[in-house]
Amino acid sequence: MTIIEKYADRFLARYSNYPQGQYVNLLLVRQVESEAIFRTEGSGEPLSKEFVHAGLDGDEIIQRVVISKRKQTAVERRTGRELLRAHGLLFEKDGKSGTCALNRNNPCERCMDCMIYGYAAGGGGAQKSRVVTDDAFSLHPATTITGSKQFNALFDNSTMRDPETGKPSHSIGTDEYVKPETVFLDIETLKDVTANEFRYILGNILRSSRYGAITARIGKVKNLLAGVIFSNCEIFSNLELTQAAYDHLRNGDDENGSTEPDFPLRTQKLVEAILEVSLELGGRVASHIVRLTPEEVVALVGEIITLYQDEAAVRRVLEETTKMYGPQG
Ligand SMILES: [Zn+2]
Repeated sequence: MTIIEKYADRFLARYSNYPQGQYVNLLLVRQVESEAIFRTEGSGEPLSKEFVHAGLDGDEIIQRVVISKRKQTAVERRTGRELLRAHGLLFEKDGKSGTCALNRNNPCERCMDCMIYGYAAGGGGAQKSRVVTDDAFSLHPATTITGSKQFNALFDNSTMRDPETGKPSHSIGTDEYVKPETVFLDIETLKDVTANEFRYILGNILRSSRYGAITARIGKVKNLLAGVIFSNCEIFSNLELTQAAYDHLRNGDDENGSTEPDFPLRTQKLVEAILEVSLELGGRVASHIVRLTPEEVVALVGEIITLYQDEAAVRRVLEETTKMYGPQG
């Protein structure tokens, strides 16, 4: 029996318009694999950061780098839509607005992307997203995980030499970036999804790797599934999870009096910390909670990888799900 079959009662048998209170919470580690910039698109601002408490206890305040929730799901939606497009499963609503596209105000209202991640149509139709997330925080303080680089501004001829005088550029700017092996903690909550919708959403997460600013240098990010919790309501927040993991991984005072976790940190150590603190945090949630064991989490990721290696099986999942939503009414 597969993990998804074992927990079949945690998924809806078919899509329903009415909330059923079946939540699947995916505990994710987003690990940066190359220098990355996560700024607000087009703002010209440096990285977004927030002052927050270091851990759950104590008064220590640190600045953490933040990846906005919109940025995280937008990347995963694009990954999923590429797949739907390849299988001809993005539609056109009325024959004049063009094929369903993100940010173009022409949702088809019946593809998997529209039905799962939601849409708002000008004509009044709307579907709430059933994938809910929040801003993700870096585990470590910004001072530990960011660096800045100077760059020479380019001239019109795309070189650093003035085409008229031949002299080098003296216009120097700085770019702030997040260092490789920086980790962010994030919980994605899926509401009332079927098993096939779950396969699609988790596939999008595991297959997405480019986050950050659209222009300039884009960071490569690896998503790791650290845990899965079934519940009847939303559980704890990204920030609580980050703070609890930070406390758990703190070191004793070093010669500088610092007690922050090692950087870089082995992801396995972080995954173990997440499992442990999520057990504790889960104990404070007013809901019946079922957690996958670490072995089940590994097996589940294996099931998703095996599925996506089989093109015909993926097509079946996508086609069956799309058909389930029925003709556009
Ligand atoms: Zn659509």
